[in-house]
Amino acid sequence: MTALLDVSHVSKQFVVGGRLSRRRVDAVVDASFSLSADAPEIFTIIGESGSGKTTLARMILGLEPASSGDIHFEGRSSGERRRRRARLDFMRRVQPVFQNPFETFNPLKHVDRYLYSTARTLAGATSRAAAAAAVDASLQKVGLSLDEVAGRYAHELSGGQLQRVAIARALIPDPALIIADEPVSMVDASLRMSIVNLLRDLRDTLGVSVIYITHDLATAYYISDRLAIMQQGYVVEMGPARAILDAPEHPYSQLLKESVLSVDDAGLGHLVPADRSAAIAALEAAATTSLQERPDGRVVRA
Ligand code: ADP
Ligand code: MG
Repeated sequence: MTALLDVSHVSKQFVVGGRLSRRRVDAVVDASFSLSADAPEIFTIIGESGSGKTTLARMILGLEPASSGDIHFEGRSSGERRRRRARLDFMRRVQPVFQNPFETFNPLKHVDRYLYSTARTLAGATSRAAAAAAVDASLQKVGLSLDEVAGRYAHELSGGQLQRVAIARALIPDPALIIADEPVSMVDASLRMSIVNLLRDLRDTLGVSVIYITHDLATAYYISDRLAIMQQGYVVEMGPARAILDAPEHPYSQLLKESVLSVDDAGLGHLVPADRSAAIAALEAAATTSLQERPDGRVVRA
């Protein structure tokens, strides 16, 4: 059986700073996981700001090369996507939803133009009517319609509506995987749950898998099937979401759970828990530790 996605020992280093202050940032260290092609799921990557979530997502999307390790999607590596045709095939199957919909959509362009363009390049629509039908069908899947968004500019829509449009655009080519990088962090708190619910509905009705990236434990609680917790580039705990959220094992996972329950600004990406010392000590040991398997299916860096 071929996995939908297989991430194997992937690391990414950046070199930052000038000639005299050069240093290496380990953005992602030895990440491994896979998604099954048979069972759509919501796989959540959670961690505070700077833990490596976006870098991992960009490597999976082929927007950033890995420094080491392999990523295969439906059995093919990114190196096998150099030709335009293979790249288009990949883009039909894997679609991103980014954090800030107001950056995704150019303020001077009608938002539906993006959807038409995707319908033409990725869904094979050759006429205006065929493209309109594909666009409208996708918008319906997210609770909107072409009538509602045709001719509108980004600023005429709310953050929540715009993120729905971004998800509708992603759905046009009928992807198998959506990678949503903090899709609700720019969305009004009162609307977050409806977007998160939408992702869950898409899993159930369309069979699409979702890599949901967040720093928000509340939404992760609600929709995740599996969870990977990242801290400073390392996956420190990964497995069935319920098992981890109910009884986190790694000190950082415990900290994450405690913080979200106690910190008022959870959702801003800054966890300021009372005592980070245990988590930091565990992280400092991380280079010499490895992921160990537990009977309940989780792996913990220990
Ligand atoms: P997250 O999405 O979890 O906030 P990122 O993946 O954006 O984390 O960043 C992880 C680390 O890699 C951070 O220390 C960040 O500063 C660094 N980083 C990310 N992208 C770059 C880049 N293009 N150049 C240099 N450093 C980067
Ligand atoms: Mg990020």
